[in-house]
Amino acid sequence: MKTLRTCKNGHQYYKSSDFPVCPICENENKSKNGLFHMLSAPAKRALENKGIRNLQELSRYTENDILQWHGIGKTTIPKLKALLETVGLKFNAEGK
Ligand SMILES: [Zn+2]
Repeated sequence: MKTLRTCKNGHQYYKSSDFPVCPICENENKSKNGLFHMLSAPAKRALENKGIRNLQELSRYTENDILQWHGIGKTTIPKLKALLETVGLKFNAEGK
């Protein structure tokens, strides 16, 4: 079960085992790996190589785009999707 939480900075997010901390604060901190801490090292490197430092940048890509990147596995996509959803974003729609 996801629980809606409000962090000390007033952001609302769904707390889950993957996101024990506020993803919006993590996003704004732009810490190198903090936001994507739940991903494997190759997946983190793949995002880094693409210059993705926050969820807005991630949401410009489609799932298929991201699957092409070296280091991204099929298990990475649901994690990224859940992370986007916690801040009300989603992947770019296919074919746009
Ligand atoms: Zn926050």
